[in-house]
Parts: sequence; C-alpha cells; structure tokens
Amino acid sequence: MITRVLSTSDEDIRTAAQIIREGGIVGMPTETVYGLAGNALSAESAARIYAAKGRPSDNPLIVHIAEFSQIAPLVRDVPHNAKVLFDTFSPGPLTVILPKTDIIPKETSGGLDTVGIRIPADKTARRLISACGFPLAAPSANRSGSPSPTTARHVTDDMDGRIPAVIDGGSCAVGVESTVVSCGADGLITILRPGHVSYEEIADLIGADSVRLAKGVTERLDDGERVLSPGMKYRHYAPSADAAIVTGDKAAFEKYVREHSGSNVYAMGYGDEELDDLIPYGLTPDEQAHALFDVLRRLDEIGAERVYIRCPERDGVGLAVYNRLLRAAGFEVIDASDR
Ligand code: AMP
Ligand code: MG
Repeated sequence: MITRVLSTSDEDIRTAAQIIREGGIVGMPTETVYGLAGNALSAESAARIYAAKGRPSDNPLIVHIAEFSQIAPLVRDVPHNAKVLFDTFSPGPLTVILPKTDIIPKETSGGLDTVGIRIPADKTARRLISACGFPLAAPSANRSGSPSPTTARHVTDDMDGRIPAVIDGGSCAVGVESTVVSCGADGLITILRPGHVSYEEIADLIGADSVRLAKGVTERLDDGERVLSPGMKYRHYAPSADAAIVTGDKAAFEKYVREHSGSNVYAMGYGDEELDDLIPYGLTPDEQAHALFDVLRRLDEIGAERVYIRCPERDGVGLAVYNRLLRAAGFEVIDASDR
C-alpha cells in the first residue's frame, strides 16, 4: 500500500470520507497535531488504528465531533462544569473525559467506561467529520513512542505504507496535543494532560478550587501507581537521543552547555543563545509549542546522541511544552543555576 497525500479540496475530502466509511483510516490535520482518523463507532476501525500506530490497545482514542449537538448519543452525562468548558473553549484544543454510552465500542475507549470528546477548530478536520456523518476516533498519527506529527510529511515518515491516505493541511497551528481534562460529578476538573487551553484559563473560568493538575503532568509516577489517564504510563514523545532539561537562566544554560559539549551533543534553546550546535525551538511558549515536535524529529535525523534542552516557561501553554519535554527527557532535569 502506498500512502496517498490528499489535498483539502472538496473532492479529496470526499475521497477521505469514503475510505473511512469503508472502515479505513486516514491521516487528518487538526489545530493540535495530525490525527489518525477512523469511525469511532466501529470496533474494527479502532483495531486498525491501534495496529497502524503500534499502540497498546488499552490506550483510549479521543472521539472528535464537529458540533456540540452531536455529543448527546455518545455520553451519559455532561456535568455543569464540563458544559462551561465546552462553551468557552470549543471548538478548540480541549478534550473532556465523560461517562460513555454503549454506542462507543470498548475498543475505541481502550476498555474504559469513559470517553474523551473533542470538537476541533481546524476547518479541514470539521469538514471531514461532517462528510463522514459519524464521530471520528483519532489519536496522534505517529508510530507509538515517537513524537506527535505536526505536518503531513511527519505522518508519511511514520506511516508510509501503513495507511491509505493523509490529508495535507499544512503545519498544525498549536503543535501540541489537546488539553485533556476529566470532570467529576462533583464538578472537580482534573487536568490529565496540559495543552493550549491552560490551567490558568480554566482556573479563571471555574475557580482555582475546582481545578487540579494530575500528578503525572510534572512528576514521574511511581511504578504501579494508579494512573488516571492510560497514556501517562507510556514513554511518549521520545527522541533517540538522550535528552535532558536544563533549568537556570540563559547565561547558566550557555555555560552548562559549553562545559558539556562534544560530538553529536546539541543544545535545544530558545534561539537567542550564543552557542554552537544550537537547534532553536522558539522564544515564546506559543512558538515553542508550534516547533517542539518538528525539532525533536530533526534531532533524530541528524543523529544527536545527547541534547540539552533549555527549560521553557511553565505557565500558559508553556506547561504543555514542559510536560512533553519531561517525557522526551525521561524526567532528567539538571539545575544549572548557581554553578
Ligand atoms: P492521543 O490520542 O495520542 O492524543 O492520546 C490520547 C490520550 O488521551 C490517551 O493517551 C489518554 O492518556 C487520554 N485519554 C483519552 N481518553 C481517555 C479516557 N477515557 N480516560 C482517561 N484518559 C483518556
Ligand atoms: Mg499520541
């Protein structure tokens, strides 16, 4: 099978929808990262998605709809705070975990009684969902364990020959996966995975007392510790290089990297550092989110063996960048201040 690269023309969207209706899966652009889209109501389609990704089948798939009105048959309840979040941040990079109905097969939900629902803002994704006429299950379109794809080229690099088609919608605006939250019947919102919809925005909206960050966001979970979100168990977003996050200011970062230079050693910095072998990932949290996965992929291509990453700011979308980098670095954080 050769993976076709489709455009965003009406004709190509119809072609993609036809492939999905026949049980196939298609690479789909969204504003976060590219997804691997199949029929969310079909156990066979879910199985195909797991097989193409090489993903453990207990890792649930997010279900994408085009309009809030399409949520009713999929979930048993939408608590008040969940509705407030949808009203404020959707369409957009937010996934809310809710109790599922039987219409969602357990293959799609990774065996859980809950399902993550997202309404993407990306026009191409919305057109594809509407052309299909049913919700689309779509995890990130990378092979399990490699960085999420933010261009159609990343998708074909990982999936060539494993999926029939990818729609090329250009590079993803946000660049990191959606904010995933669960919502208890008591209204408590737990952020399971940070994304562009930030902790601060959610706290401003519903009150800081009603929102918390799951432990796995910034801390390694202990062996055997109960995970709220199955994806937290897996080593994600990992480059082949041995990466470490370096904290401290710009001068401390530069000094640390100079003292630890060597062959195939790179610095992943903001771009304002004066260093050799510097691969910049952006000055602002938004730029960093946008460039992050492309830079991690590039480090693999150039054969980096050791990478020192300048720690991002940890507020706003910066927390999502930090969370992904912690996983890429296997939680190795070096404090370079006061050296
Ligand atoms: P991806 O599809 O690659 O963006 O990853 C989706 C992630 O969302 C999974 O790895 C889970 O961590 C999380 N997730 C999706 N559905 C659920 C759910 N029902 N309960 C808890 N976490 C979920
Ligand atoms: Mg993923």
